[in-house]
Amino acid sequence: MIVAPPRFERIALVGIGLIGSSISHACRRAGLADHIAVHTRSPRTLEQAEALELGDSYHGDITEAVKGADLVVVSVPVGAFEAVAKQVGPHLKPGAILSDVGSVKQSVIDQVRPHLPEGVHFVPAHPLAGTEHSGPEAGFAELFDGRWLIITPLDGTPEEPVARLEAFWRALGSKTTRMDVSHHDFILGITSHLPHLIAYTIVGTAADLEDELQREVIQFSASGFRDFTRIAASDPVMWRDVFLHNKEAVLGILERFHKDLEELEDAIRSGDGETLHREFTRTRGIRRAIIEAKQA
Ligand code: NAP
Repeated sequence: MIVAPPRFERIALVGIGLIGSSISHACRRAGLADHIAVHTRSPRTLEQAEALELGDSYHGDITEAVKGADLVVVSVPVGAFEAVAKQVGPHLKPGAILSDVGSVKQSVIDQVRPHLPEGVHFVPAHPLAGTEHSGPEAGFAELFDGRWLIITPLDGTPEEPVARLEAFWRALGSKTTRMDVSHHDFILGITSHLPHLIAYTIVGTAADLEDELQREVIQFSASGFRDFTRIAASDPVMWRDVFLHNKEAVLGILERFHKDLEELEDAIRSGDGETLHREFTRTRGIRRAIIEAKQA
């Protein structure tokens, strides 16, 4: 099949934080849009976006931003998609592609799909790229380079818009793959959501210590704790929404995690060094595999 080039006449970016602004930078770098229209909820963020020249036009009114757009990419917290879809649905151009970058896919699909008119192609997507920073100033053109972009195509969507969005993301620097929706939410539950929950817990435990102990934890922070504090500095709204909207998968994974943790706890209590050594050896292999896959 011949896929149309990933260039679009008008791209509307709804939400212009870390991910939205990085899409703008990478889009500019690859020359993928004649016009980038930017919308964000607050006047302050819109002003920041304008000062950073992230778009060609800036709209406080979301319907003005998406009017006539061939591609609309929504980059807002996972819990905000229904309200956005309700507002933009009636104003989307027939044949337009609506996509998103949400970290959870089933919930976003459930929130968006009922509000889209016939003839608009909804192609859900998730870039596996990010930092602990947020807001329009946090974005940069290289964020997606060499990182995976997962598309979870919906039944009944024609191949052409899906392939076109894939080509777009490849031009932004990503590697692309397709996945079933529930599989995506399960895999990301393990690779991203659980580690964030653990980091928030560990750093939260330190935050509960009395002042003097807390000062020492900060002063003598070894790399283990320091690495967790970076993850636990991630945006609280984004992560609140991820856990509320990927509830089933995360609770299932947490059940397994509790079991594994208890096994290690038992091994420590009973002085079972063999079990501890076996477990710690097994897990090194996963780190090596990640390095070999160039995802370190
Ligand atoms: P961000 O930097 O915090 O930016 C959030 C954007 O969404 C801002 O434009 C903000 O607008 C807007 N927004 C916030 N709450 C809203 C609401 N209730 N209604 C409408 N707009 C709202 O966030 P981000 O890191 O770019 O994340 C955006 C999406 O990307 C999320 O769905 C997240 O799951 C996904 N994602 C994030 C990462 C990551 O590492 N950060 C990685 C992959 C995917 P105002 O500032 O104007 O209020």
